Amino acid sequence: MSQSRYPGTRGLAFKEPLLWERAHEGRIGISIPEQDVPESKLDASLTGPAPKLPDLSEVDVIRHYTRLSSWNFGVDTGMYPLGSCTMKYNPKINEAVASLPGFANIHPLMPESCLQGALKLMYELEQDLLKMTGMKAASLQPSAGAQGELAGILMIHAYHSHKGKQRSKMIMPTTAHGTNPASAALCGYTPVPVELNKDGVVTPEAIREVMDEDTAGIMLTNPNTLGIFENHVAEISKIIHDKGGLVYGDGANMNALMGYVDVHKMGVDVLHFNVHKTLSTPHGGGGPGAGPVVVNETLEPFLPVPRVKKEGDRYSLCFDAPLTIGRLQAFFGNFAILVRALAYTRTMGHMLKDATEIAVLNANYIKAGLKGYYNLPYPQASLHEVIFNDATQQKNGVTTLDIAKRLIDCGYHPPTVYFPLVVDGALMIEPTETESKADLDGFIEAMRAIAKEAETNPELVKDTPQNTMVSRPDETLAARQLILKGE
Ligand SMILES: *Cc1c(COP(=O)(O)O)cnc(C)c1O
Repeated sequence: MSQSRYPGTRGLAFKEPLLWERAHEGRIGISIPEQDVPESKLDASLTGPAPKLPDLSEVDVIRHYTRLSSWNFGVDTGMYPLGSCTMKYNPKINEAVASLPGFANIHPLMPESCLQGALKLMYELEQDLLKMTGMKAASLQPSAGAQGELAGILMIHAYHSHKGKQRSKMIMPTTAHGTNPASAALCGYTPVPVELNKDGVVTPEAIREVMDEDTAGIMLTNPNTLGIFENHVAEISKIIHDKGGLVYGDGANMNALMGYVDVHKMGVDVLHFNVHKTLSTPHGGGGPGAGPVVVNETLEPFLPVPRVKKEGDRYSLCFDAPLTIGRLQAFFGNFAILVRALAYTRTMGHMLKDATEIAVLNANYIKAGLKGYYNLPYPQASLHEVIFNDATQQKNGVTTLDIAKRLIDCGYHPPTVYFPLVVDGALMIEPTETESKADLDGFIEAMRAIAKEAETNPELVKDTPQNTMVSRPDETLAARQLILKGE
């Protein structure tokens, strides 16, 4: 395929063997001064056999790791349209601010009087999150979206216990992220799935059918993982509340709603943010994140402790909360991520609303550009992400996985694939607001070229990627049988 417009993977991409294959007997990385004390042998019964390390020079080692690092792909190298994960560009000012010595060198055991700036920062980030949602109070402790969910469901659990009767079930749509049923189950609730209607949303009728007085509440993602706005939330919340339940909002996709939606008015009792998605802090590869929760009046007493309190212009940590679910962390969560999040909200200011608009516009631009080339299982209006599948290409034996692999040849990270589970062979594309029109055009062109190849030369698409160092490892085997040493 022509490599003219998209970034591709060509040029100075180095092959790199294992360190053991690079080794030359007798090579050393350092020279130490001649020995001036008597030699004595280590007792092998104490140390075990000497490890067989490869013989390498300093240059060998540096080149090895530097070359391997050039095989990485990230938002700083190119478009990373991973639906649901929201891989947007992280402005470098966030990094600069997070590494200021006053933030980077503090210790959580320092006295509060020395931590006023850090506490103020946490307080102000809480205020920003509350402003974005209309909610009443917040906790920044959860270290990931999944832990925010756990915190929220623990609060719902504590609320029902406090009311005197625990419940056993939790409703969730079939589009839910896998962490939703896991969080509910961890708190002892049995997840009750509800199906979507043909427009890809949950209906009040479906909820009315399953909601009863043994159901603790509902976990609802909005926009849902099809990228579609759940337009019956207020009515659904009322049905849940009328039967004594509570509403958990999964706010991982708040980047589609920032500045536009008042979550409190929709009847949500607790919502988590993924600041590492919505507010640009870096994530991926299991890196640190933060999943703050915001709550309304009903759940405020149950928030984790400590809470950050402001009196006059002094900030303190407050542990006095008789109904709290307790601590989620040894200290206060991933503080450096919170610094980045506040740097983002403050540098963006009212432009957060523009970010939402552009994220939605970009996803819809891709939707329009690929319509007709790929099957669109839910053609309804969607927000920040769009979901195609491989129904058209399957006719020639080309699958979602093949399409994703071919995209790598064009220099794009593949989108999320095979999720959400309600769509067979889903290709879930989320460009975010980061990408320019030219970059989106390049991606669309590549996707169209792949659709054409799938028709004219399906065998080729199945035999990709071809431009990478490694083509198609057995992914299960590669994850289960790591080869971490040379022999
Ligand atoms: C990412 C995501 C989560 C989980 O967040 P983590 O930070 O990965 O734990 C939950 N729900 C949705 C919809 C998500 O996209």
